[in-house]
Amino acid sequence: MHEWALAEAVIASALEESRKGGLGEVTEITLRIGELQHLELEIFKFALDELAKSYAGSPSLQSLKIKIEPEQAIFKCRVCGAEWDFGDPGLDQKEYEAVHFAPEVAHAYIRCPSCKSPDFEVIQGRGVLIHSIKGKQ
Ligand SMILES: [Zn+2]
Repeated sequence: MHEWALAEAVIASALEESRKGGLGEVTEITLRIGELQHLELEIFKFALDELAKSYAGSPSLQSLKIKIEPEQAIFKCRVCGAEWDFGDPGLDQKEYEAVHFAPEVAHAYIRCPSCKSPDFEVIQGRGVLIHSIKGKQ
């Protein structure tokens, strides 16, 4: 399942970073999840907790807390260079939900607010980032 695969990747890279930082125990990981990332948050959090609980290696994850913060999507027009976020394109609620449900439909709904071009890229708000890792030596 997508959420489990992603959770495994997050735990693996958090462990790698923690080892590099010389941590013996990881106590808190803060993740930023792009608002265009299609993810069942409940399943994702459950998967992270289960993986942390069952991990018996070093550094320890036994008292790990995982915080999740949303990351706003930002778009950039390839024609005129304007940047904007979801607050701007004037989507009604139904379109907003459709875009969230399937980010690939974004291009069907969103136009540059400056020049009305549909040719834009997503520069932020996709994917899952490890924002910070806290722990003890
Ligand atoms: Zn434009």
